[in-house]
Amino acid sequence: MNSDKQQKKILVGLAGNPNSGKTTVFNALTGTRHHVANYPGVTVEKKEGRCRHQDAMVHVVDLPGTYSLTAYSTEELIARHFMFDEHPDVVVDILDASNLERHLYLATQLMEMQVPLILVFNMSDVAKSKGLEFDIKQMEILLGVRIVPMVASKKKGVHELLDVILEVAGQKSKTLKVHYGAEIEEELTKIEALLGRSNETFHAKYPIRWVAIKLLEADTEVSGWVQNVAVQRQVSASREHLNTIFGDRADILIADRRYGFISGACQETIKDTVQIRHDVSDKIDAVLTNRHLGLPIFGMLMYLVFYLTFKVGQYPMHGLEYFFGYLSAQICHVWPQGTMPALQSLIVDGVIGGVGGVVVFLPTILILFLGIAFLEDTGYMARAAFVMDRIMHKIGLHGKSFIPMLIGFGCSVPAIMATRILENRRNRLATMMVIPLMSCGARIAIYALFVQAFFPKSLQGPMMMLIYVIGILLAIVCIQLLRKTLLKGETVPFVMELPPYRMPTAKGLLIHMWTRGWMYLQKAGTVILVISIILWAAISYPKPTAGELAGLSRHEQQSITLQHSVAGCVGRAMEPVIKPLGFDWKIGTALIGASVAKEVFVSQLSIIYSLGDTADETEALQQHLRADYTPLQGFCVMLFCLSTAPCVATVAITRKESGTWKWAAFQYLGLTLLAYIITLAVYQAGMFLAHVF
Ligand code: GDP
Ligand code: MG
Repeated sequence: MNSDKQQKKILVGLAGNPNSGKTTVFNALTGTRHHVANYPGVTVEKKEGRCRHQDAMVHVVDLPGTYSLTAYSTEELIARHFMFDEHPDVVVDILDASNLERHLYLATQLMEMQVPLILVFNMSDVAKSKGLEFDIKQMEILLGVRIVPMVASKKKGVHELLDVILEVAGQKSKTLKVHYGAEIEEELTKIEALLGRSNETFHAKYPIRWVAIKLLEADTEVSGWVQNVAVQRQVSASREHLNTIFGDRADILIADRRYGFISGACQETIKDTVQIRHDVSDKIDAVLTNRHLGLPIFGMLMYLVFYLTFKVGQYPMHGLEYFFGYLSAQICHVWPQGTMPALQSLIVDGVIGGVGGVVVFLPTILILFLGIAFLEDTGYMARAAFVMDRIMHKIGLHGKSFIPMLIGFGCSVPAIMATRILENRRNRLATMMVIPLMSCGARIAIYALFVQAFFPKSLQGPMMMLIYVIGILLAIVCIQLLRKTLLKGETVPFVMELPPYRMPTAKGLLIHMWTRGWMYLQKAGTVILVISIILWAAISYPKPTAGELAGLSRHEQQSITLQHSVAGCVGRAMEPVIKPLGFDWKIGTALIGASVAKEVFVSQLSIIYSLGDTADETEALQQHLRADYTPLQGFCVMLFCLSTAPCVATVAITRKESGTWKWAAFQYLGLTLLAYIITLAVYQAGMFLAHVF
């Protein structure tokens, strides 16, 4: 007895689904040293026992078998209260290894309760006979818990379990997070923030994230604790919001996500040597995440999205172009002759030209975002991340990195915000740095103009494609450089969720499409409006005297006006620096505009060539370009615009998301340097070859 008192006392709770072999484990641990009672007030059996291991006395409680830890049944509530009231040193979750995905559901909830956890993969014999092979080491890393394989009915693994119990009992419990996806996480953050401020009495006892999740799930017990009105309001608002987006109750969505987490963890760590697939989602996954088929399927889907985007997108785009052209013409038409020509020019050339130039791309970008939202909401994107992971790992990134990169083809601003889904900071920064190399929608305008101006119809598609591919290849090279130098470090493995496939709701798709499109539009309304006006002024003033323009043709007059202006002077000053790239002062002037917002490049060029002229702009502009430059120069402009520093809005968002100006400056200067070197190499090589042949 005396020696008992000096021993370490360890309290262990045994949890698990019914029929997982809990009682068998309990008996294997405690032998005959146990007694049975009822939990106070209810007819649920409480079995307690103990055993000695090394220098410790292990007290074991056999908890009622439950599938979950909601507040629906007495058994679940008993198990739940045990975790928080009795403060067990270790909770051992017994799982049927032959039916692991279903049994891991309880484990995800125990992780969320932040109890010190051990998983027992019981019935290992049955699993083996079913042809299942586990990568236990990898699973321990992914789930952040210790795992002990057992055959309890044969007393196999009992000693190992006791060893691990002693080991875990002394440690601080890890807090592994199941990631519930951007929308649910956002609501959880709001609820947690309000809970944090509300100062209610249950705070000390329960993990705040767990409380927030339970509130979202509308858990009857936890909801009853909350008195704070602000919290209650937020919870209902959040539940309603999720319902409109996904068309399902929050508790169902949360359960789906937990299963997604489990599927992801299992997909990477269980080898199903016999290949029996269980449900529809699994059957689809067998094809979509297949080692050989996965990538081609992903490639085809991406091609489809981009094809639709540009094919369908051009119609509303032409419509908008027509609209802005008509608007400008009408304003010129009704404008009283000879009164305030400067104001007329400001409105038509500055405001409509600048902002309109951005807005015409909105339909294209919205369609792209709709396509991405569809792939995300159906659950395919998670599979694509899975497939891409194999390749991305080779370049030192996580598979999820490709989602922000994909969004980057629309606009860098929402893309950089989307890097939030990356848990690892180094990965996140590396991804952020190269996102501008994904050609954004605004740059399509530049490519379209130059490709059409300099290349025959048959080469236009391939040239566009080439530019996109060069961007992707540059991104890969840059990431590898970064990951080997400034952002060195291991990629910590974590679970990639595979949520079940679901039919997205129209409302959800529209909301997702619009929130990203809105960020793009805001840019047009604010930054670009201001810049357009400044650029217009820079390009229009100071004006040459009437004498200087006398006797010249209209085209010559425009040229002289521009050469006189601030922009023309700056462009000229830049000429020695950009001449080796094949650029002259006009391109230099347009590049100044592009450094502020890419779409300004085209409107800037059109202002340079046809100031005050509202005739068919695109066609005229292409003719001017053909007259002034070679196809090599045209290609070099595209290459420079592809790889150079991002627009101001992107710089601002990089500053915000990375937390320091340092990374924003690094991105800006690094990419400028990259563009300069590459364009220089291509132009000089091209000139050399042209000289030789
Ligand atoms: P509980 O409901 O979780 O308490 O499960 P029990 O301990 O009552 O076990 C349910 C059944 O599974 C019993 O028939 C056990 O003999 C059997 N069982 C338990 N562990 C194992 C195991 O590792 N392998 C096999 N094949 N059967 C087991
Ligand atoms: Mg039992």
